[in-house]
Amino acid sequence: MISENIKSVSERIQEACKKSGRNPEEVTLISVSKTKPLEMLKEAYAAGSRDFGENKVQELCDKIPEMPEDVRWHMIGHLQTNKIKYIIGRTALIHSVDTLHLAEAIEKEATKREITADILVEVNVAGEDSKFGTSDMEANKELIRSISELQHLRLCGLMTIAPYTDDPETNRPYFRTLRELLYSDEMRGFFPERPVLSMGMSGDYEIAVEEGATHVRVGTGIFGERDYSVK
Ligand SMILES: *Cc1c(COP(=O)(O)O)cnc(C)c1O
Repeated sequence: MISENIKSVSERIQEACKKSGRNPEEVTLISVSKTKPLEMLKEAYAAGSRDFGENKVQELCDKIPEMPEDVRWHMIGHLQTNKIKYIIGRTALIHSVDTLHLAEAIEKEATKREITADILVEVNVAGEDSKFGTSDMEANKELIRSISELQHLRLCGLMTIAPYTDDPETNRPYFRTLRELLYSDEMRGFFPERPVLSMGMSGDYEIAVEEGATHVRVGTGIFGERDYSVK
């Protein structure tokens, strides 16, 4: 089941690329494996997945040693400063940097270990109270500017979690806003030549790809519904 799902999601990403004139190689499919048992991650790995997304530090730390070394781990959940030390140097990308306080705390841990941490700024484009980050664009620009001064962080791009919706088209403007922020004259220089736009989940990843996503985070569409009660 998992390998078929990965295949069909990949095909739909390719279709979305074709529709929008993009190269499918620009888009990374992250298998969001939170709450899912190792057997399922291994199945996804066997089907070719090398990028996995988790949202809890403890779960991430439990899974890392159990999976092959070439897995790229993506921290996509809210990160508390006191837990940075457990994941620093072990993740390919931290998607959820939403405050300068958190960025500075990551900077501190990275400095201690003499490494550079790749991060994204999380933007709450739709301004939902349930989500982290801010929808205040001036505040986001300020955060981007401040983070760019931290020597042990590499600001790779932006991330957003769009609202849950039955009609993915309603999220298109949010994805577009995130892309426009990154590519604005004012902000473009703070990001690398090939920046990351982490946006799109099971319900709306095709629209996100059409709007420029480089990383889509798909959980349910690969592993099936999550059951939080068994945890
Ligand atoms: C859980 C989660 C996803 C995956 O959600 P699905 O709807 O199951 O694809 C993506 N991004 C983040 C930040 C998540 O927490």
